[in-house]
Amino acid sequence: MTHAIAIVGLGKIAQDQHLPTLAASDTLHLAGVVSGHAKDLDVPVARTITELKAAVPDLVAVSLCTPPMARTALIEEALSLGLDIMVEKPPAASVSVGERYAAMAREAGRALYLTWHSREASGVGPAAEWLSARTLRRVSIAWKEDVRVWHPGQEWIWEPGIGVFDPGVNALSILTRLVPGTELHAATLKYPSDREAPIMADLTMARGETEIAAEFSFDQRGPQTWTMTLETDDGTAELREGGGRLFLDGAEVAVPEGTEYGRLYRRFAGMIGTGAIDADLSPFRLVADAFMLGRHERVGAFRWDD
Ligand code: NAP
Repeated sequence: MTHAIAIVGLGKIAQDQHLPTLAASDTLHLAGVVSGHAKDLDVPVARTITELKAAVPDLVAVSLCTPPMARTALIEEALSLGLDIMVEKPPAASVSVGERYAAMAREAGRALYLTWHSREASGVGPAAEWLSARTLRRVSIAWKEDVRVWHPGQEWIWEPGIGVFDPGVNALSILTRLVPGTELHAATLKYPSDREAPIMADLTMARGETEIAAEFSFDQRGPQTWTMTLETDDGTAELREGGGRLFLDGAEVAVPEGTEYGRLYRRFAGMIGTGAIDADLSPFRLVADAFMLGRHERVGAFRWDD
């Protein structure tokens, strides 16, 4: 028997990753969708989680694929219906809001998984194992993509507190897995003259003697870059393509097969019905610290059709 799960918010990531992953799952099946616009699906579609649960009584879980704002009401609604919950990154619009979710789920006795999909990239586990036998000296991160390609027309991406940190937090989720205890010491945030969220950010971080520098851009034309270089006392590891490929001293090494979202849903399937909670906010705290300590610069206006 597979668990009946519903997707809430049928936008880009739900269609690109969640639907195909659930279609291929042997532990979960898509039992419905909560959406303001979806139609012509071969599962029930409802406007609210409550309406969907009434139409699909065996529903046991929801996967929230909406933007990070306004997730609290969805989580309260799902918990009141006895549903387990998986949440897209970033978990909330702010740290203080995200911090409440674990306590809410614990009180309701339901499972909660605040996901970080980039942590599940194929090279991240092998990189962690390689690092465990070495002393890390320096980390350099270049996470540069074109917002026009990955978030076409999504105005919510320019809400205060998001911008380039929507992809940047993916790099920080890998970093906090590989280098727990990382602290942020300084940042420069570059804001388009007509927007309230940064389009570029440079971060200076450290853990003890290990220096960590990150460059984030949401304005990268041509090839996209999602690279993390880890220099140690005994060689250099480089994660490329968002952690999907691993190079050790310049030579690519084999990494496990499978996809980020395949691993996320496999893990969540194992949490369903157990009351387990995985709610690590450490990547998100670094984002908050960047806004707390960041110097602001203004750059040219942003245009979707540039
Ligand atoms: P999106 O294309 O804008 O889709 C979000 C969907 O959520 C909308 O289609 C809508 O679904 C629903 N929604 C509910 N309230 C909304 C609101 N106030 N504003 C806009 N949409 C609202 O966004 P997305 O790119 O899929 O991103 C969703 C989440 O996934 C974000 O947290 C993002 O960081 C994460 N994510 C995105 C990507 C990516 O490549 N885009 C990759 C990984 C993770 P209905 O019309 O069905 O109601």
